[in-house]
Amino acid sequence: MKVCVLPGDGIGPEIVGQAVRVLEALRQDGVKLEMETALLGGCAVDAAGDPYPEATRKLARQADAVLLGAVGGPQYDTLPREQRPERGLLGIRKDLGLFANLRPAVLYPELANASSLKPEVVAGLDILIVRELTGDIYFGEPRGIETRDGANGKERVGFNTMIYSESEIRRIARVSFEAAMKRNRKLCSVDKMNVLECTQLWRDVVTDEAKNYPDVALSHMLVDNAAMQLVRNPKQFDVMVTGNMFGDILSDEASMLTGSIGMLPSASLDEKGKGLYEPIHGSAPDIAGQGVANPLATILSTAMMLRYTFGLEAAAARIEAAVKKVLAQGLRTGDIHEAGMKKVGTREMGDAVIAAL
Ligand code: NAD
Repeated sequence: MKVCVLPGDGIGPEIVGQAVRVLEALRQDGVKLEMETALLGGCAVDAAGDPYPEATRKLARQADAVLLGAVGGPQYDTLPREQRPERGLLGIRKDLGLFANLRPAVLYPELANASSLKPEVVAGLDILIVRELTGDIYFGEPRGIETRDGANGKERVGFNTMIYSESEIRRIARVSFEAAMKRNRKLCSVDKMNVLECTQLWRDVVTDEAKNYPDVALSHMLVDNAAMQLVRNPKQFDVMVTGNMFGDILSDEASMLTGSIGMLPSASLDEKGKGLYEPIHGSAPDIAGQGVANPLATILSTAMMLRYTFGLEAAAARIEAAVKKVLAQGLRTGDIHEAGMKKVGTREMGDAVIAAL
């Protein structure tokens, strides 16, 4: 089992360092991972002039899974677009054909006060948003800004194309039905079929695919209602699946229900279950190098890796249980700290998770 480790920029090396220690602790218990490190993002621009260098590409292609910290930083914001760290991220996602983005939003009861919603609305929340990542209006052609003849003479128009093929919808539907089978067997598909033909096809194909998963209860919801229900009664959901643009917005909304960006992992999968695993937060340049960043989102990303790429459910559940245990012990990094709890740094949090394992 080969893992390509990409610490990236900012707090990336600090948080990935702890996640790697957790995987090494499990290695002693029979989880046999080979880990090799490479450069992605700003650090790769500094070293090789390219945010996704050839050596990284080679390693990432050969690996079964990729563990990523985060990329980016203010010092790179003025570089030409093709050298920006984000290009490295888009590059690796595209190169590896990662079309399915899985974002759990879990609110541990101990952290219920971190949410801006009432604790009773969100305590114990555990939903998974599956977002299609390589299609939709973000990639559809034609696109652009051009000058056209209008009623009032020539003026500029901007346009994009929302497009999904049946096979693209079917493969993301399958990933979400499979994920629902591993959870509470409820799937809500989100679309805008009352206005957009493209999403009428989405609904038709997801409904058809449901025939292969008789144990999963499928429902459909319009995206505007879904945005509302997520803040009204988020616990009604188990797994949600939607397209790239709606998923972009809804997954950010869902993550904020938990109020703790330092706690949330994510996975992006290809058709064979190879995946890139990363926390949902960025490189947090404001706290980089201080040893205070929360490593739990990255540690929880390794649990997703063990579950979705390597099929090691027991080891994944062990990591998640260890995280729950350290929270119950009252340990908190600065981002989730509240009165009465013990404030710890990045490494101490890693130590505690390993001890709890
Ligand atoms: P950010 O997520 O890096 O930080 C937002 C806030 O949350 C900051 O105050 C930060 O200190 C805090 N925070 C984030 N992660 C934390 C953690 N693990 N522990 C404690 N606090 C944490 O978002 P931003 O400030 O908008 O972006 C900073 C840089 O990261 C930018 O260059 C941006 O492009 C990049 N970015 C990268 C990714 C990625 O690599 N996937 C995602 C988002 C942003």
